[in-house]
Order: sequence, then structure tokens, then C-alpha cells
Amino acid sequence: MTLCVDVVIIGAGPAGMSASNMIHEYGGRAVILDEQSEPGGQIYKAIDRVMRDRPNELSWLGSAYHDGARLTKKFRSQAKDYQPGSMVWHIECRNLDGLYNIFYSQAGVSKKIETKYIVIATGAMERPVPIPGWTLPGVMTVGAVQSVLKNSGMYPSGKLVLAGAGPLVLQLASQLIGAGISILAILDTSPKGSFLKALRHFPRALFAGDYLYKGWNLTNKIMQSNIKVYRNVTELNASGDGRLQNLSFKVNETKHCLKADTLALHEGILPNVQLTRLLDLEHVWSPRQRSFSPVVNSWGETSLSGVFVVGDGAGVSGARTAEYSGAIAGIIILERLEYIKESQRDLIIEDRKFRRLLDEGIRPFLDTLFPAPERIGEVPDKTIICRCEEITAAEIREVVKKGCSGPNQAKAFLRCGMGICQGRMCGTSVTEVMSKALEKKPADVGAFRVRPPIKPLSLEEIVTLNDN
Ligand SMILES: Cc1cc2nc3c(=O)[nH]c(=O)nc-3n(C[C@H](O)[C@H](O)[C@H](O)COP(=O)(O)OP(=O)(O)OC[C@H]3O[C@@H](n4cnc5c(N)ncnc54)[C@H](O)[C@@H]3O)c2cc1C
Repeated sequence: MTLCVDVVIIGAGPAGMSASNMIHEYGGRAVILDEQSEPGGQIYKAIDRVMRDRPNELSWLGSAYHDGARLTKKFRSQAKDYQPGSMVWHIECRNLDGLYNIFYSQAGVSKKIETKYIVIATGAMERPVPIPGWTLPGVMTVGAVQSVLKNSGMYPSGKLVLAGAGPLVLQLASQLIGAGISILAILDTSPKGSFLKALRHFPRALFAGDYLYKGWNLTNKIMQSNIKVYRNVTELNASGDGRLQNLSFKVNETKHCLKADTLALHEGILPNVQLTRLLDLEHVWSPRQRSFSPVVNSWGETSLSGVFVVGDGAGVSGARTAEYSGAIAGIIILERLEYIKESQRDLIIEDRKFRRLLDEGIRPFLDTLFPAPERIGEVPDKTIICRCEEITAAEIREVVKKGCSGPNQAKAFLRCGMGICQGRMCGTSVTEVMSKALEKKPADVGAFRVRPPIKPLSLEEIVTLNDN
């Protein structure tokens, strides 16, 4: 039997929890589906377990965990229909009245819910950083190292090198230093002069001054440690016999080599657009963040009536902005469902919009200080782009010469993006490589179309769907 509800929220990170808290505060109800086993999303991962079992780690995990604890506590106390361990793999428009069917997998069984409103709060993912050797065992992402650290307090043994640019590199370095874990080197790939360029956005960033203070503290902590920091790093290569052993890179035309056991890469994060692409919503390319995001209005609603996208999934803007956006979508839905009056709605919205505006003041500064890398389109020929099907940049460039005009045609030529990740990992890199090869803007090259299921699922689950 299909469950029929008013609202389904997908994702229990800051944005999803905040939407849920708002809806429940005024008497509404929502079902919250999240593939993780606990609420918190990326930033507050494993927060309940950390607070309960490992409170001594809060000193180095960062003060943001206390904000997370406040949000999660309220969420836990109100959201009676929170369903952890539920991965949404398909959404379909049921009819023209704006009813939607949501399909999700829970403990190996797939189920369906019918709903009037959907809040997609599925956050962001790390930008894959294709470099020669990035598929070797021992090469991972900064977010993956952080995720293991947050989840279980574990970390890679041996010589660890962090490489890339962005607040997450500083955050992880600071967390590792705080936990007493040694880092051999940090390879900073921010281009020369980015700090000076970012300075023109400094006055607006002052409206979100606490982020500047936090950034300064993180940088200071790294400077006071004895970690070797290489700046303006280019041409990073990883190599080794069956696993990572060596790194080579250039700093101002001087070549450097290091022995390493683990390399953690990071070049910013990208909106997670699998579900919004699946719904065939309109997406725009952000040249500043070098990523696609769905088009939404100021309260997060998309061109499909009743479908909202909030948080980093609608454009990367940080956890606090995600909270405000989630609350705004929640209040709009409450008014549509007649739990509150229009005047009450506007009062709350204006307050959250104002706070969001102040908070967003940091973005131009951060996006200029750590610019999204344009070089992905120019990676060396031998670099693997699609990991699942082992397709290199050279092969993509070759099919472009033969007339392949975009990522979807590249699927037919190469099976690129058709492996187990269904293009989640390689999608943006394929667009970047094709954009350079075709000498077109990424927006004109486009992106992979997304088909259900968006993540791997057993055939048995699909076949038995109607029995559940
Ligand atoms: C790897 C990584 C690490 C980060 N670490 C930090 C940090 O240390 N400090 C910091 O300030 N910011 C960090 N950020 C940025 C920060 O996470 C975001 O700004 C903030 O969490 C955005 O909140 P959100 O609610 O939009 O998304 P998220 O917090 O990402 O929450 C999204 C939720 O949606 C769920 N989800 C996704 N897809 C599905 C699906 N198909 N079905 C069901 N559930 C789904 C996920 O499980 C997740 O719980 C990190 C980002 C990433 C990608």
C-alpha cells in the first residue's frame, strides 16, 4: 500500500533538518528520508555519537558541532517520521495536479511514498580532482579522510599529504593537528595572486565576520605547526607500484618530489544534482563555482510546483545559509497547507532572508580566494576521467575530433558515465574536458542526463516494489 503524505524532505543535513524543524514547529508534519544512519549531513556527521561517546573530540572537531547539536536535538524531538538509512533513487511526477511518487530503498527493500511537496536537501559532493595517478590505492579526498575521522576517530597511517585548495583543506588540517595526527605536507594549489584579488570582496565579507575569524584561526594553527606548506603548486602527479608511493609537483617551475602513503585531494565542492537532473529541472552553470545547479526562486522552489531545493544542493553556500534556506522553504509549505497565515509567513521569511543575505557575504571572498580550478579541462591525456569505465582524457578528446558533440553522445561513443556511479563522479570533469576540446562554454556543452535508479539497486528490489 502506498503511503500518502503532505511533505517529504530528502536529506537530514542542516537544510533538511531546518525545514523539518520549521514545519513541525507550526503543527505540520513531514517524512524525512536520509541515506545516512544519523542526522547531521556532511558538516555534523555522526554528531549524536560524538556528543554521546567521544565528547573529548569536540575540542578539535570544531565549535560548529555545538550549533549542530542544537539543531539535531530539536530535529530529533519533533521529527517523528524521520527515516534514517533511506536512499531515494527515483522521483516521478504522478499527475498534473502536482503529486509526486518518491521511491526509496531501506534495508534492502524498496518502498514508495506519494506526496504533495518535496524538499530536496541533498547537499553537495566533493569535486573529483582528476590528476595522473588519482585512481591508485592511497589517493583519496580530503572529505573522505574527514568523514572517517568524524565517524570513527580513525585516520590514515603513514605519510599523509593534503593537496588542493578550499576551506575544507584548512578545516581538516586543523582537525588533524588538534587530534595529534601528523601531516607530512600541504600542497596549496590556489593560484598566485588570489588573496589580492579576493581583497576587493573583503568589505562584504565583514558582514559574516565570524567566518573570517574562523579562517584566520585555522590558517594560524597550520602556520604554527611544523607542517611544510608548498604554495602555488602545479602539475601534481601521483605514482607508485600498485599503490601510491611518490608525488611530484612544481612550484614556480621548480620540480619537487615527495614519498607519501596517502594523498588527500580537494578542489571545492559541487551541488549534488542527481535528483534535480532526474526531474529534468532547468540547471545553470556557475562560472565562479564551475558547477551546475538547479534554478530556484528566492524561497527555493523550482519550475515544478511544490518541488523545493534547499542548502548546498541549490548552490554551495555553507551550513548556516543552508539552515536559513531550509526554514524559508518550510514556511512557504506551511502557508500553502494553511497551517499559518500569509502575514505570519512574510514576517518569518523576511527575517531569515535578511540573515541569509548577511551570511552569503562571505561567498564572493571565499570563491575568489579559492577559485574553482579551470585546469580540469586541460589535464594530461593519460589522466583517467571516468573511473568506472576507465576512460582517459585522451579518449574523450579523440571522440570530440570524430564529431561527438556533448556528454550524452560520449556515452554512446565510450560508455563514459555509464558505470556503477552513473556519472556522479565524472560528470563535471567530462563537461570540462569536452568544453575545452570543443572550445565551447560548459553551459553550452551540457551535462549527463540522469536515469533512475540514481544509485545502484538490486533487481529484486525493483521487482518486489509493488508488494511493499
Ligand atoms: C565531504 C564534505 C565535507 C564537509 N565538511 C565540512 C566541514 O567540516 N565544515 C563545514 O563548515 N562545512 C563542511 N562541508 C560543507 C557543508 O557540509 C555544507 O555546507 C552543509 O552541510 C550543507 O548542508 P545541506 O543540508 O545542504 O547538505 P548536507 O549536509 O550535505 O546534507 C545532505 C544530506 O542528504 C542526504 N542525501 C543525499 N542524497 C540522498 C538520497 N538520494 N537519498 C537520501 N538521502 C540523501 C545525505 O546523506 C546528507 O545527510 C562539507 C561538505 C562536503 C561535501
